[in-house]
Amino acid sequence: MSYFSDLGLAEPILRALDKKGYADPTPIQRQAIPALLEGRDLLGIAQTGTGKTAAFSLPSLHRLAQNPTGRYKRACRMLVLSPTRELAAQIADNMRGYARFLDLSVQCVFGGVPISKQIKNLVHGCDVMVATPGRLIDLVEQKALKLDHVEIFVLDEADQMMDLGFIKPLTRIANMLPKERQSLFFSATMPSEIAQLGQKFITNPVKVEVAPQSTTAERVDQFVTLIDQKEKQALLTLTLQKGLGSGEIESCLVFTRTKHGADKVVRHLVAAGIEAAAIHGNKTQAQRTRALDGFRAGRIPVLVATDIAARGIDVPGVSAVFNFELPNVPEQYVHRIGRTARAGRSGLAISFCAPDEKAYLRDIRRLTGVDPDPFPLPRDFVEMAARLPKPARKGTGAEHAEDAREGGTNRRQRGRNTKPRRNPDVKVEPAGRPRSERPAKGQGAGQGQRRRHRPGGKRNGRPPRNAVQNG
Ligand code: AMP
Repeated sequence: MSYFSDLGLAEPILRALDKKGYADPTPIQRQAIPALLEGRDLLGIAQTGTGKTAAFSLPSLHRLAQNPTGRYKRACRMLVLSPTRELAAQIADNMRGYARFLDLSVQCVFGGVPISKQIKNLVHGCDVMVATPGRLIDLVEQKALKLDHVEIFVLDEADQMMDLGFIKPLTRIANMLPKERQSLFFSATMPSEIAQLGQKFITNPVKVEVAPQSTTAERVDQFVTLIDQKEKQALLTLTLQKGLGSGEIESCLVFTRTKHGADKVVRHLVAAGIEAAAIHGNKTQAQRTRALDGFRAGRIPVLVATDIAARGIDVPGVSAVFNFELPNVPEQYVHRIGRTARAGRSGLAISFCAPDEKAYLRDIRRLTGVDPDPFPLPRDFVEMAARLPKPARKGTGAEHAEDAREGGTNRRQRGRNTKPRRNPDVKVEPAGRPRSERPAKGQGAGQGQRRRHRPGGKRNGRPPRNAVQNG
């Protein structure tokens, strides 16, 4: 048996961990599990990839199993809130794995899919419910779920919840929970407004911090290349052709700042013969699931994503992360590169920095204390770039056919008489679009400088602090 047995976890859980091949607890698991088994509240500051899902799941499942109350109708005993659908599904999958030898049921609900099946599944209640906030509130409003039997409450990725504008739904949910409960609050960063949010949920918590706040994920080799915005696509395509071809890169995530930018990158890669898919808030749930499944299964080696959609994604084999555009919030850089080098592996992060993104690079350097190494342009870059195929014009290709088949992402695609489908998990976006996808005031896309830029070269003028690049 593993060292997990030293932590006092029940035998069926140890057996499940054995099956998973986990030998030792990770640092956050070692710190959190004993306190959580005692029923303490917990404030966790943890980067992605640290094993925090198991850190909160294992002791919670242990406690639920030790106190078998049975299931309550239209209710759950443990509630886990996640900011994104993908992360919710991932947490639920992990928890099902840890609970496989226990008589505990795990259900997952999120928006973007019909609510009726979720309502039906909830009739007899469940032990663990993993949910995104919008859909959870919808279920409560439709009287399909009540929260007065929640014994354990977990709020995951609190900083992203704030970014997504979930503060009001969270406060509503907090008011519906029983006062007597165990609460766990996790965030990758802990600025003061997140700490204040935490105070609404937790009482006298044990504080667990596995990496100093905003420390860049260890084991990630970081590179940056200074390059003009309009040359980024060619550099990405050529780097991927070489990296995927040689096996140096097995699978990679490419981050763009906008949804439109993500689609554009995919079109270029596909035209150059590289299998790629985009994942962002404008895609239907079916498209997002298919892209992620294809990526996880290794059928699609390149996933192009916006920050919001990619947060929390755990794919063990991600060998590289490309920052096609630098994030304007430096903490986002830490989240992005945390997608690689997960669970003890090493990883590669390559950032493309346009002249008007230099201020972001400076912020990233200041926050992480890391100065990425220069990533050289390929030899004959200009000639090779000129030979790359151009994609078909937007809207003529498979992308739209796919939208039409699946009911589309907008009203026109679904048919004129169809009302826009309400999606509670994204409904906050128009009023408070995620910072990472929101153009800065007075800065439209495409205002970046267009001069060719070489590593170490000089640039003219200083860009506005919040300039947004053309995706
Ligand atoms: P998380 O930070 O929860 O997303 O976990 C990151 C990855 O680490 C996931 O793929 C987990 O399955 C894996 N993991 C979690 N705990 C352990 C452990 N004790 N030993 C090995 N892998 C683990």
